[in-house]
Amino acid sequence: MEWRYAVALTGGIATGKSTAAETFGALGYAIIDADTVAHRVLDEQAALIAEHFGSEMLSPDGRVDRKPLGAMVFADPEKLRELEGIVHPLIEQEIMHLAAAEETHRKPYLIDLPLFYERAVYPIEQVAVVYVPRALQMRRLMARGGLSEAEAHQRLDAQMDIEEKRLRATWVIDNTGDRAALEHACREVSRLIQARMV
Ligand code: ADP
Repeated sequence: MEWRYAVALTGGIATGKSTAAETFGALGYAIIDADTVAHRVLDEQAALIAEHFGSEMLSPDGRVDRKPLGAMVFADPEKLRELEGIVHPLIEQEIMHLAAAEETHRKPYLIDLPLFYERAVYPIEQVAVVYVPRALQMRRLMARGGLSEAEAHQRLDAQMDIEEKRLRATWVIDNTGDRAALEHACREVSRLIQARMV
């Protein structure tokens, strides 16, 4: 398929992708959220997840409990690969399906893809990277998720370094400041997207 109107929105964990996506949504962009797709796929595969990783990975209502699953796979690269082998092909299929529908509208849309660079499966040329330096990324990640410093480092180390992503970006959205500054930066990038793609 063609990815003519797609913009990948990426960054590191807790650099502010979801917050930026809200602003782009308010500006009228359609957003495909890879995390939402991933959660749906995970729940659809609950039986398989329990088979591979134990029934303690399910909550009483039969859905996948992402907290123990996350703790397990982020502490064990082999288990992470096993989980990815199950869910990634299904997630990719669904994202391509949603993107193909957006392309028919012939206007720019965003795909929030936390692992755009790590996975490198979508040939999307325009990439907006939401950036904060690692120290701030650590602080926001720990504050949001109630993670210890060691757990937060583990999650960051499982991803490509945020500085590397910044270097590869088409557009950098700096989220070092407050939310108003982030909104302003998103509007700036929106102008550049419109200039290039409309
Ligand atoms: P991501 O989607 O990249 O994982 P989020 O958008 O969830 O990141 O942001 C990570 C955390 O940082 C959240 O708790 C969010 O509320 C907070 N946050 C995002 N941007 C800012 C900001 N400019 N100032 C303060 N906190 C922020």
